[in-house]
Amino acid sequence: MVIYGWRTSHIKTEGNNQISCPHCGEKGGIYNSVYGRYVHIFWIPTLSIGKTGAAQCSHCKKVYKPKEMNDDLKRSYKTLKSDTRIPFWHFSGVAIIAIIIALFTINDKAEAQNELEYLDNPMIGDVYEYKADKNEFSTLKVVEVDEDSVYFVYNNYNYSQKSGIEAIDVDSCYSNEAYMVSREELKAMYNDGTIYDVNRK
Ligand SMILES: [Zn+2]
Repeated sequence: MVIYGWRTSHIKTEGNNQISCPHCGEKGGIYNSVYGRYVHIFWIPTLSIGKTGAAQCSHCKKVYKPKEMNDDLKRSYKTLKSDTRIPFWHFSGVAIIAIIIALFTINDKAEAQNELEYLDNPMIGDVYEYKADKNEFSTLKVVEVDEDSVYFVYNNYNYSQKSGIEAIDVDSCYSNEAYMVSREELKAMYNDGTIYDVNRK
């Protein structure tokens, strides 16, 4: 469940000593306040949705919403509102999301780099995950390596999805007979996507 909604936060309050309160007539007691509104996702501010505010007379305490202001009040309030910048933290969720995406991208690249190194230098015990058929996935396990070729044992079982395939990566699932494939063929299988993951413990 995603918890989201919008919130309002106070940004700035400033007095104006030039104008009078339409209610009590006192001059110099009007204070304008500006608030920022933002959408939050799990209470993290993510998207600013503009500014709002009000004026208050410090003498009679009357609060004026923008619609209730006379021309003087409105001009004074609008000046402060347009001079008020929305704080950067109202967008902090966007920055957090960008950082998370960047970290995932870096991680994916590092993983792909590792796999290429594993294919270049196969080692006994490496496990290749491959697409055996439509919606059928299985594993191969390297049991011997020489200069040109890699020897592996087949898994006797297929798995219906990529995730959780470790469940069939146990010794008792593998064939007793070893098969040979050239290193070139192995790389070709990785490049065309037949082999989609290389695991080394
Ligand atoms: Zn007043």
